[in-house]
Amino acid sequence: MKLSHRITNITGGGSDGWDVFYKARRMIAEGIPVTELTIGEHDIRTSPAILEAMNRSATSGHTGYAMVPGTLSLRKSVAARIAARTGVPTTAENILITPGGQAALFAAHMAVCDPGDTAVYIDPYYATYPGTIRGAGAVPKAIVTTPDTAFQPTSAALQEATKGVASLLVNTPNNPTGVVYGQETLAAIARACIANDLWLISDEVYDTQVWEGHHVSPRSLPGMEERTLVVGSMSKSHAMTGSRVGWICGPAEAISRIINLATHTTYGVAGFIQDAADFALKQGDAVEEEVAAPFRRRRALTMQALAGQNVVRAVPAQGAMYVMLDLRATGMSGDAFANALLDAEHIAVMPGESFGAAAAGHVRVAMTIADDQYLDALNRLIAFASELAAQ
Ligand code: PMP
Repeated sequence: MKLSHRITNITGGGSDGWDVFYKARRMIAEGIPVTELTIGEHDIRTSPAILEAMNRSATSGHTGYAMVPGTLSLRKSVAARIAARTGVPTTAENILITPGGQAALFAAHMAVCDPGDTAVYIDPYYATYPGTIRGAGAVPKAIVTTPDTAFQPTSAALQEATKGVASLLVNTPNNPTGVVYGQETLAAIARACIANDLWLISDEVYDTQVWEGHHVSPRSLPGMEERTLVVGSMSKSHAMTGSRVGWICGPAEAISRIINLATHTTYGVAGFIQDAADFALKQGDAVEEEVAAPFRRRRALTMQALAGQNVVRAVPAQGAMYVMLDLRATGMSGDAFANALLDAEHIAVMPGESFGAAAAGHVRVAMTIADDQYLDALNRLIAFASELAAQ
């Protein structure tokens, strides 16, 4: 039977970029120990206190259909958090609770792109971006950045690429590069969106993981509130990846329309999950800092391990749970290096190419295992790269 073009075209027909990951999983299944530095998931689980809140909610009966836009209490908590952090007045009407940031990314593109519209994103990019745009019926278009601008888009590229398009998707702190956009980049993004009259979709799921400088939400820049949809999530900030709870924050009119989409797709998020998220947010910043602390520590370990050699160079990681390593001195592609490292050292990292053409010759390392094992794996990676570069 014929399937729709929309569904058969989601991955664009190419590799999904996860080959090294699958190969590592096959090796593990065969009993070969592999150190996995691939996926963006904490090495801790959701805290017992949050799970207790979830359990209390479920056993007290919050297991029926929940309100489609989200519970009023959680919408208010998310709005208060955003208002406090950005200074932009935000109420429950600006918030839709979604099953994770991924569903929010999809809903945001559905909201602002008509079929055939062009939706821009920045390369390197989080693996689902082009597929999400295609799934929403739009046409993905990348702004390819370069290592010499620390993978931040230039003002000229932003202006040029956003002419006549429906939306621009940005992500800071960034996955895969760990880069946090500076004031200049954020101002250039705002200028391009205003000049070319398009929507900004701002993926801020790593907003609690900032190691240098601080996170600035582009929604807070002059003229941006009315044209920005912010994507947020409890996945990274509270180690709640499996709970699937996130949000979209935007103008009340846009949110009320996106609620119609939620009614006809997800029909909301489980009430006990929302209550657990609400409880978690009400614990304040200290809990978020505790969840982020291991990545801050391991990022410092990374910088120490890389000092004193120049074969493996880090893209300056200012945020998120990853570090992007430049391996071009080995003369290999990121893909060839990641495969060779897996075969020789049984260490799995993601080839930069999995995140777009801009990250060729790089690998992304997820800092998601215990400190001593992490440091050991990193030292072995550096030694392996040095050997290759010397050949
Ligand atoms: N955006 C980025 C940049 C991500 O890295 C991820 C998950 N790895 C997501 C969105 C989606 O996260 P979730 O659906 O778990 O909230």
